Amino acid sequence: LPVDAFDIPHCYEGDLGAVIVPEGMIKDRVRRLAKDIHAKIGDNELSLLCVLKGSYKFFTALVDELAYARSSCTQPMTVDFIRCQSYEDTQSTGMIQIIGLSNLQELKGKNVLIVEDIVDSGQTLARLLHTLEELGAQKTWTTTLLSKNVPRKVDVKEDFVAFRIPDKFIVGYGLDYNQKFRDLNHICVMSPKGIEKYRNK
Ligand code: 5GP
Ligand code: MG
Ligand code: MG
Repeated sequence: LPVDAFDIPHCYEGDLGAVIVPEGMIKDRVRRLAKDIHAKIGDNELSLLCVLKGSYKFFTALVDELAYARSSCTQPMTVDFIRCQSYEDTQSTGMIQIIGLSNLQELKGKNVLIVEDIVDSGQTLARLLHTLEELGAQKTWTTTLLSKNVPRKVDVKEDFVAFRIPDKFIVGYGLDYNQKFRDLNHICVMSPKGIEKYRNK
């Protein structure tokens, strides 16, 4: 969708190539996704694991919708946070840093839903699933806002995908380019000008 059809912050003018998923559509999709997650997981205690920073917006939207979808549940949801870092500029470094692992001991024996922003090579999600297994989580599911249509470097289970997208570098709705654009409300593709402007020099 053309960028000029949307209310884009002035500071990002010219930095975007296209809006690929507008905010309103994300909201509707997350509502349905929450219903699908509830249908699959049922009335069980559920721990939601937010993978920061990228998934913060998706996470809060999903928690809100799950709260409605699970309104008849007798078992509560809990939330936990972890931070993963692997991207430099627009490329994955393949070296995944996990921060905040020490807080996850409480996930032992729990049903955990990992909430990711985007799956590209699959390495980050695979690493997280492995980590939760080591911590002794009882059951694990994964949900991702975006799933890139590229061959995975490692096969990883993606249980609930909000949107499948082509192999483009994405920003907005929590996703960054060198820490910028997380505050953009829509999911967008960058323009060459924007990539050059915010490149790590
Ligand atoms: P993977 O390990 O699957 O290659 O990459 C996963 C992580 O890299 C994601 O959780 C995300 O933080 C980052 N990433 C992958 N593709 C993109 C992208 O197109 N845009 C942004 N902003 N981050 C990405
Ligand atoms: Mg991520
Ligand atoms: Mg990033």
